Amino acid sequence: MTTEEIRRGGVDVWSPSKTPPIGTDLTDEQLMAVAFRHLADIGFAENMAGHITWQPDDQHDMFVNPWGLWWQELTASDICVVDEDAHVVRGRWDVTPAIHLHTELHRIRPDARVIIHNHPYYVSLIAALGILPELVHQTGALFLDDMYLVENYDGEIDAPWRASELAQQVGPANLIVLANHGVIAAGRNLAEAVYRAVSIERVCRLAYDVMLTGRTPSKMSRGDMVGMRQSLIERAADVYWAGAARMTIKADPDVLN
Ligand SMILES: [Zn+2]
Repeated sequence: MTTEEIRRGGVDVWSPSKTPPIGTDLTDEQLMAVAFRHLADIGFAENMAGHITWQPDDQHDMFVNPWGLWWQELTASDICVVDEDAHVVRGRWDVTPAIHLHTELHRIRPDARVIIHNHPYYVSLIAALGILPELVHQTGALFLDDMYLVENYDGEIDAPWRASELAQQVGPANLIVLANHGVIAAGRNLAEAVYRAVSIERVCRLAYDVMLTGRTPSKMSRGDMVGMRQSLIERAADVYWAGAARMTIKADPDVLN
């Protein structure tokens, strides 16, 4: 096989007959709260910064976290609902003006039902260098041809027009590194977006540690990465999410309240 040959991957090659479920029926708000808690657990949140929006299929309104609560303390009843222009429709608290980053992306990216933004440490480190992480491990195949770097930091994204400019710029990428700021991970559902968010922090940490060795990393074949990307999206995201949800609920059942 040549290095340019494209490997097949995903459910075309192997589809599991049965996978472990979350094990309990959850409301949309409970699923959101579990996502916040899990991402906080893996170190994705910079204290109370960041937001996740979920615009369920065929809806304009979206779920989001309120301003001021930390991701690790959120419970299901804290989740707010905003309309497509970021007005709070339901919820006990207000939301940040930075929510426009999400509403404008949702507006032009109907495939991106879930958008996650925060400033995880290792992505922030790579973002401080103004580069995208080098993909040096098979999990990095998840981001093959799917990353975009916003090179210029120009302050807080606190108005719809600023967010709209940024949304127009990033195109179809599901992973956006914002120089000197943080990251945006998108997905067709919570499982996909959460898996991308978790994976990019590890990808950046590994890329940074490889840089520290001063040695040239071994290259993966692009053809193999294409197949692996498909497998990660089609086979890994769902089971990752189910396991993350089981463990998060077990650690603190109060997350569902
Ligand atoms: Zn931010």
